[in-house]
Amino acid sequence: MASGLARFVEVGRKIVCVGRNYSEHAAELGNKVPSEPVIFIKPTSSYVTEGNPIKIPHGSTNLHHEVELGVVIGKTGSNIPESSAMQHVGGYTLALDMTARDVQDQLKKKGLPWTLAKGFDTACPIGPFVPLEKIPDPQNVGIWLKVNDIMKQNGNTKDMIFRIPFLIKFVSQFMTLDVGDVILTGTPSGVGPVTAGDVITCGLTDIVSMSFNVAKD
Ligand code: MG
Repeated sequence: MASGLARFVEVGRKIVCVGRNYSEHAAELGNKVPSEPVIFIKPTSSYVTEGNPIKIPHGSTNLHHEVELGVVIGKTGSNIPESSAMQHVGGYTLALDMTARDVQDQLKKKGLPWTLAKGFDTACPIGPFVPLEKIPDPQNVGIWLKVNDIMKQNGNTKDMIFRIPFLIKFVSQFMTLDVGDVILTGTPSGVGPVTAGDVITCGLTDIVSMSFNVAKD
């Protein structure tokens, strides 16, 4: 299965994202800590792999970085119990939930979906497949991001509000989780803007890292 999962970017059918899953990040954007997970979707067309630029989307002058641990589904399931949820995890990845914050703020004010703020081309820079054995405890991994070599986000997955087994249970009540699908588990605090010419580097401790240039569309 692992060899097939290495191609999760090509075979996965959805990117399920969790908003406000670290309390310090919820606070920095003036949001309350949610009582149940905030879920949204990015299209798989928003994936961009290393070597290609992140493009500033149409209509935005405030593009934000959000570094996140990605969970790669290795076994299909729906209505998955929390107790067996980890059996559905095939591995991990590193992702950026790029967000047009100004577009999102406008949409939020109108009570409209976040799609255009979160789903544009290159909104999901994605790293390589990380096998399970490289991350024995996914709830205790350092997660960091630098812009132009300056540390901006430096958190730990132990601070997630809703943990991976609960997220799998919660999401799979509504959507079947298929092999190759990815759950983005939320971002720690320190999100902020990037502009054309910036270089984003991010990683999970020293297990995996990746780097992207930001370019004008
Ligand atoms: Mg996010």
